[in-house]
Amino acid sequence: MLPPSFHETQALRSWGRVTQPRQFVQKPAWLNQAAAAVTALDHDGSVLPVGLGRSYGDTALNPDGGVVVTSALDRLIDFDAATGVIHAEAGISLGSLLAFLIPRGFFLPVTPGSQFVTLGGAIANDVHGKNHHEAGTFGCWVEEITLARSDGTIQQLQPGRNDGFFAATIGGLGLTGMILSARFKAIPIRSSLVETETIPFANLAEFFAIAQESETSWPYTVSWIDCFGSRGAGRGLFSRARHVLSGELRAEADATRVSIPFEAPGILLSKPVLQAFNALYYTAGKRHRGTRKTSYKPFFYPLDAIGQWNLLYGRQGLYQYQSVVPPAAGPEATAEMLRQIAAAGQGSFLAVLKTFGPRPSPGMLSFPQEGTTLALDFPNRGESTLALLARLDDIVRAAGGRLYPAKDGRMSGDLFRAGYPRLAEFEPHVDPKFSSAFWRRVKTAG
Ligand SMILES: Cc1cc2nc3c(=O)[nH]c(=O)nc-3n(C[C@H](O)[C@H](O)[C@H](O)COP(=O)(O)OP(=O)(O)OC[C@H]3O[C@@H](n4cnc5c(N)ncnc54)[C@H](O)[C@@H]3O)c2cc1C
Repeated sequence: MLPPSFHETQALRSWGRVTQPRQFVQKPAWLNQAAAAVTALDHDGSVLPVGLGRSYGDTALNPDGGVVVTSALDRLIDFDAATGVIHAEAGISLGSLLAFLIPRGFFLPVTPGSQFVTLGGAIANDVHGKNHHEAGTFGCWVEEITLARSDGTIQQLQPGRNDGFFAATIGGLGLTGMILSARFKAIPIRSSLVETETIPFANLAEFFAIAQESETSWPYTVSWIDCFGSRGAGRGLFSRARHVLSGELRAEADATRVSIPFEAPGILLSKPVLQAFNALYYTAGKRHRGTRKTSYKPFFYPLDAIGQWNLLYGRQGLYQYQSVVPPAAGPEATAEMLRQIAAAGQGSFLAVLKTFGPRPSPGMLSFPQEGTTLALDFPNRGESTLALLARLDDIVRAAGGRLYPAKDGRMSGDLFRAGYPRLAEFEPHVDPKFSSAFWRRVKTAG
């Protein structure tokens, strides 16, 4: 049983919107209330801290259990302007952190593709950004975490201390306890503008050559790939960027320009429409090849400009699929995945290809490892989509790769165990009262 402080159940969805389970919700306003929310449970209840719900699948869902929504825990605690070390409550969004840091000449050391992500969520998924080849994951920059456990203890976690609790909590999927606050190091910048360059590529061989050449001198790289073009040959647009060395330091207030008002009708997701979108996007990108200076937002957070863009995928929602495979397997495994997707005719608007660098991730369950990562959105078409994703699983498994839990809503327990060899080391750190739909699924499903 959950205590009365958990409100009525609410039907909540993750970003992918495939399921809508009922959960008991509590939204504490203060850190002591947040710590209390995870202790006052008797033996039947389970609880999960959640941030802004930007995970696609079921890592931030706890059907029939309690969720503690952290978004009101959004205060800055301390900032050292000499070192860039900042301490904040776990529910603060990356956008709010940027609004504070940029005018002071600092930037997030690592940022995912949305600023509507909390500090706690960024740590619990050990998120990566376009600078992984240079900076590693967000967790590489975290110096201290304050963690509340269901037994009422509050732990101060630091790298290399606390019997592995730090390494378990970075990328720990919210299962080791509730992150109340964290201290991390921001990086210095001299301008909020970025210099970007777009380079079209015709196939995967060209992509890998441009990636290799870029990563020595460009801190940020990412590619959009046309998963319908020429039977999966892998044409696309390579983007690389760096912070401009002088100029204004201006944080932009809100990135959202338009919002999708309702679930889009199925026609928008039909193969001819998606194919035409991909072809047009590629052609427009080719026309805009070359370098330009832009504000940081269009480069780092292009999707944040469209509010609720996940509604474009209609009533059935979407599956994200993000894999990483080791460097030697990258070209062949990526080509085979693109062939399977093209043959199934199930591509999407959004397909992203990137190489991860060698910097080790600090978390026991961190997703990034050196190699090639491919991320795609698939409209949920039921069995046919699940069958395609199972074929992609076989390619990833054979290549010695893994899937990203933050994006996942259906991988098998076998695939999870195969991809995460430190799982046995992680498990003793799980708080016995904490659970999620993802955790129950991968623990019980074959
Ligand atoms: C448009 C878009 C682009 C994205 N791009 C990237 C990308 O480039 N790289 C990348 O790595 N990810 C990316 N993501 C995924 C996103 O960064 C992660 O899913 C992130 O963890 C979401 O944070 P959140 O605050 O929404 O957390 P939620 O989704 O609500 O929760 C995520 C996990 O964190 C746990 N958690 C949240 N708060 C706490 C806390 N206080 N204590 C303990 N555990 C907690 C939850 O239990 C859950 O397991 C993207 C998502 C979107 C929608």
